[in-house]
Amino acid sequence: MEYQAWFECIRCGSRHDLDQVVYECECGGLFEVVHDMEALGRRPGTEWRRLFDQRYMGTVWPYGSGVWGKKEMVCPAVDDDNVVSIYEGGSNLFWADRLGDEMGVGELWIKQCGHSHTGSFKDLGMTVLVSMVKQMRADGQAIPAIACASTGDTSASLAAYGAAAGIPVIVLLPKDKISVSQLIQPIANGALTLSIRTDFDGCMRLVRGLVKSENVYLANSMNSLRIEGQKTVGIELLQQFDWVVPDWIVIPGGNLGNVSALGKGFLEMRQMGLVDRLPRLAVAQARNADPLYRSYRTGFESFEPVEASDTLASAIRIGDPVSWERAIRVMRRLDGVVEEATEAELADACARADRSGLFTCPHTGVALAALEKLIAHGTIRPDSRVVVISTALGLKFPEFKVGYHEDRLGEFEVTPSHANRPVEVDADLEQVRRAVLETVDSVYA
Ligand SMILES: *Cc1c(COP(=O)(O)O)cnc(C)c1O
Ligand SMILES: [Zn+2]
Repeated sequence: MEYQAWFECIRCGSRHDLDQVVYECECGGLFEVVHDMEALGRRPGTEWRRLFDQRYMGTVWPYGSGVWGKKEMVCPAVDDDNVVSIYEGGSNLFWADRLGDEMGVGELWIKQCGHSHTGSFKDLGMTVLVSMVKQMRADGQAIPAIACASTGDTSASLAAYGAAAGIPVIVLLPKDKISVSQLIQPIANGALTLSIRTDFDGCMRLVRGLVKSENVYLANSMNSLRIEGQKTVGIELLQQFDWVVPDWIVIPGGNLGNVSALGKGFLEMRQMGLVDRLPRLAVAQARNADPLYRSYRTGFESFEPVEASDTLASAIRIGDPVSWERAIRVMRRLDGVVEEATEAELADACARADRSGLFTCPHTGVALAALEKLIAHGTIRPDSRVVVISTALGLKFPEFKVGYHEDRLGEFEVTPSHANRPVEVDADLEQVRRAVLETVDSVYA
């Protein structure tokens, strides 16, 4: 095999093959996937770029996928026949021209990672993990099922990929803390769906116990195979920018796997000569679940888990993030900052963005609200090119959207500044005309 990768402990450096069932080192450190960078470095950066561009969105299996088009630096250990792909990646890079003008930033782009098979960026990582499991089963390992704890999007993604591969899936969800759309996804895909009377951190503890006592494979992001798929978001972004590195990337953070992945991708691309500079990172957290923000305020000197309270940004309602150590490492190397947003700020940021043609999920709202603050504080300068990673599709969060526009988010202390209510009238032209003239006044004026 020309390209090699293995699990390596981020604390003590101990190694395992990618087909070993290991999540955490005996020393307590997490593993990360490390690639043979010397082998990858034998091909010049310009050639890697050409190869990735030539495959991008094509139809040659499995290289048309935005993830598998970078297979050599993602997961070379899986045979093409065992790849489980639903054509992930290739997501829209929305030029948020009007919103950028309003916010006072030179160029604003929204990377629409939610425009994917199950409606969130989680598909980028799940394709790699489920493919590896298919490979292990093909090689004779007994893995009866894959399991995860989730705030709603990981479970949707795992259920879809498991169903596509014909591998049983078990998901552990916090009861009443995810949207109806998210709940119905694993149910529809035939996963064993456990609705548990606890929060995400509680589900996480339970699934860790389950994988210890049973032979099921763990799909949470402490399993670093997912990070390898997720890191392709940064590579794809550069493909879309003709390999010009943006100044800032703003990304919402919960378990902190995604920011770790984004940073890892950029560091590897620089090492392989695909780029010669790095962007700066801004992680955005909800104030009600903000352990990384608090750590940032200490200069990352310490990290303490917090008890997360309810937030509209339910997918990042995580007080004890698994990947905090990975995240701090990349934040240090990419000169990262952390900002937070209140419920009112994230809700209004979503509504404002939606009025410029987007349809944002609350996590993207956290990122946009944080961006507003970073511009106001002068951290992000007005001439910058900024990319916001939109992590999920707004359509997955109808309760949030409707609640905002009907002014029913009082329990989150949200008083909507941009509410827009439907106007109900009879099927009568005069009533319709009156409604139009009353509400669209300003248009005629
Ligand atoms: C998972 C998720 C996040 C957080 O990503 P982490 O890797 O846990 O930091 C943010 N937004 C959405 C919509 C998600 O599903
Ligand atoms: Zn170790």
